[in-house]
Amino acid sequence: MKHAVVAVVLGVGCGGAGAGDDGPDGGVAPDGDPACTRPALDAPWLSGYLGDVVGELAAAPRATVTQRNTARAYLANQLSILGWSAQEHAFNNGSNVYATLPATTGSEPEIIVGAHFDTVAGSPGANDNASGTAVVLAVARYLQDVPCRNAPVTVVMFDLEEAGLFGSRAFAAQRLPAQVRAVHTIDQVAWDADGDRRFELELPTPALADEYRASAQRVGVTVTTTTTEGTDHQAFRERGFAAIGLTEEYVGGDTSPYRHLAMDTAATVAMPYLELAAKLTADVIMREVSP
Ligand SMILES: [Zn+2]
Repeated sequence: MKHAVVAVVLGVGCGGAGAGDDGPDGGVAPDGDPACTRPALDAPWLSGYLGDVVGELAAAPRATVTQRNTARAYLANQLSILGWSAQEHAFNNGSNVYATLPATTGSEPEIIVGAHFDTVAGSPGANDNASGTAVVLAVARYLQDVPCRNAPVTVVMFDLEEAGLFGSRAFAAQRLPAQVRAVHTIDQVAWDADGDRRFELELPTPALADEYRASAQRVGVTVTTTTTEGTDHQAFRERGFAAIGLTEEYVGGDTSPYRHLAMDTAATVAMPYLELAAKLTADVIMREVSP
């Protein structure tokens, strides 16, 4: 469920990724404390991990109570394997899965990174939205290797987005905008038929647009801003949070033709593009928490 409007080009083309001590091949120390490293974006585990998560989730639709229970158990287990303490946030007709990695220093406002894990009935939802869910888990995995964190980071897998943003609205109601720096939600990031490595930033604040533009240059992708709503970031924005949605070229027209259909299978996922989505998101989040 999405409705869209105008697109504005912001970013740079391919080839923005360079070497150097601020580049994507990092393992680099942020300015200041040499012990405060960030892991390299080119992680050896990334491709296999994203593929495993999408493959597991998209083995079946995640629409019925039983299907969503199965998916939640898998997601909670994945968070536990990564060393995060998984929790459930039950609301009247569903339940989100989330975990918070505490800050190691300071008391900056929380950072939230989320994606919906549910599907419409009958669709395995590899693109919509096992892809975004896999990116959120990959961000959690990167953050394991960020020792200096000035803010807590919460990763959350939302239930019942397809039914009307129920999970994200229930989760947003549990937080206060003044205590949250930014909310990042990811929905459909596995289709790039024209190979242009372009992503859309949905209704970013100016500050968030700047962060994504800078990370896009480092990762070597292009970003365009749009005014698309109808997915989880809307639930936070309508309560006053600084929020952004990341997606494939939904407004631009290079988007999965299989959305909400039985053909939205793992076989249709553009793995190199999904890896870029994970690197882009991880670069933004790691620099927010460990500048
Ligand atoms: Zn979706």
